[in-house]
Amino acid sequence: MAKGRVVIDVERCKGCELCREACPPDILVLAEDLNSKGYRPVIMLDPSHDCTGCALCATVCPDGCITVYRDIPQKPQKKEQTLNGKALSLAA
Ligand code: SF4
Ligand code: SF4
Repeated sequence: MAKGRVVIDVERCKGCELCREACPPDILVLAEDLNSKGYRPVIMLDPSHDCTGCALCATVCPDGCITVYRDIPQKPQKKEQTLNGKALSLAA
């Protein structure tokens, strides 16, 4: 499963909670503190790294407050092939 994380612009967030309702693993919560506009913004609380980077939260946010980052799994490195102890170069 892909891993992701989100960055929330808490100063622009109005605390409407649409993103919370959309998040499958339910890892978005309202902060205790108010932002400068008097709203409780949403923050991410993801100690188990459950965010998949699905971007549903960013899609539903009416104010574009959420940026999603998703890890791209690296392909495994090919093992070097050898013949009689010498490395083989593979033709392209
Ligand atoms: S990207 Fe998906 S899993 Fe991650 S916080 Fe947003 S809705 Fe939740
Ligand atoms: S949908 Fe956007 S404005 Fe609403 S709580 Fe989430 S981040 Fe804040």
